[in-house]
Amino acid sequence: MIIVMKIGADESQVQETIDKIKDLGFGTHVSKGENRTIIGVIGDVSSIDESDVERLRATPYIEKIVRVTKPYKLVSRDFNKQDTVIDVDGIEIGGKKIVVMAGPCTVESKEQIINIAKEVKSSGATFLRGGAFKPRTAPKDFQGLGEEGLKFLLEAKEQTGLPIVTEVMDTRDVELVSEYADVLQVGTRNMQNYSLLKELGKCDKPVLLKRGMWATLKEFLSAAEYILAGGNKNVILCERGIRTFSDFTRNTLDLSIVPVLKSESHLPVIVDPSHGTGRKDIVKPMALAAIACGADGVTVEAHTDPQKAISDADQTISTSDLHGLMGEAKYISRVFGREI
Ligand code: PEP
Ligand code: MN
Repeated sequence: MIIVMKIGADESQVQETIDKIKDLGFGTHVSKGENRTIIGVIGDVSSIDESDVERLRATPYIEKIVRVTKPYKLVSRDFNKQDTVIDVDGIEIGGKKIVVMAGPCTVESKEQIINIAKEVKSSGATFLRGGAFKPRTAPKDFQGLGEEGLKFLLEAKEQTGLPIVTEVMDTRDVELVSEYADVLQVGTRNMQNYSLLKELGKCDKPVLLKRGMWATLKEFLSAAEYILAGGNKNVILCERGIRTFSDFTRNTLDLSIVPVLKSESHLPVIVDPSHGTGRKDIVKPMALAAIACGADGVTVEAHTDPQKAISDADQTISTSDLHGLMGEAKYISRVFGREI
C-alpha cells in the first residue's frame, strides 16, 4: 500500500501518518520527492481493515492511497515517479547518457584484461565488464580466476579509469567482490537466489540484476524488490534473453520488456545483446535496437582476440567492432534524445 501525501504536507503531518500506520502494526518506507512525500506501508496489508484505510483516506493532507496488489512495491513507478539515477564514480546510470559496459566474458590474465580495458576506454564505452567468478554450466569448464581476477580488474581500472562491473555468485563472496567492484552483477542463474539478493540488499554497491532466463516480469521485479527491501536502492535491471523454442539464437532477446520495465519501474534498464543472442553477428543491431526502445545502456562482451576467448567466444565481438558499435550507438542515441 502506498500513501501519497498532498503537495505541501509538512513534517509533522508526515510523522502523524507514519505513527498511524505504526499503530496499525505496519512498517513504513518514506520517499521524499521534490514536491511531495510518499509513504510505502511495509507488511502484509491484505489483512488491513478497509475502515482503517477509509479513515486514513479522509485525512486532509493525504492525496491518495493506492492499494498495491503487485508483489513489488519499492521498485514500482507508483512508489517513485522519478527515474532512479545511479552515480558510479561520476558516471550516471539511468540519466540522459547511455552507458556502455564492455569487456570479456571472463578475466583470463592480467595482460588480457588490461589490453581489452585500454580498447574499451578508447572506444568511448563507460564501464569495464569481466567475470572473475564464472557461473559455468559444467563443473569441468573454467570457473574464473577468483580473487586474482578481481585484482587484475582493479589494475585495469587504475590504468584506464573505467569502473568495474563483475559478477558475485555466492553470499560468502559479497564482501570480497565489493572491495574491488563498482557494480556487483547478479547473473541470470542467480536471479532467484534469495539469500544472495538479501545479502546484496545490505550492501552499499549498486547491483546489476540480470533477468532469469525463465523469469516473468513479475518474478524479475520481485527479485529486484528483495534488494530494495533490504535497503539498497541502487539496482539496475538487465534484460539478457530468455529461453524459447526459437533455435537460431542462444536465447531470445526480449526487447519488448524494456519499455514495459521503464513504465512499471523507476529503476534503470540495460540490455545484454551478447548473452541475449549468443551470436556476435547480431550483437550490434540488437544493441542499437535496445537504445532505440528506451534502454539506459547496454553490456556487451568484447575481446581483443575473440576466437581465443576462454568462454562465450561465439558471442564476443572484437574490440575493433566495439569501436564501430560505439559510433553507431552515438548516432542512434541522438535520434532518441539521448547521448553517449
Ligand atoms: C555474464 O555476463 O558473463 C553472464 C554469465 O551472464 P548471464 O548471467 O546473463 O548468463
Ligand atoms: Mn559470458
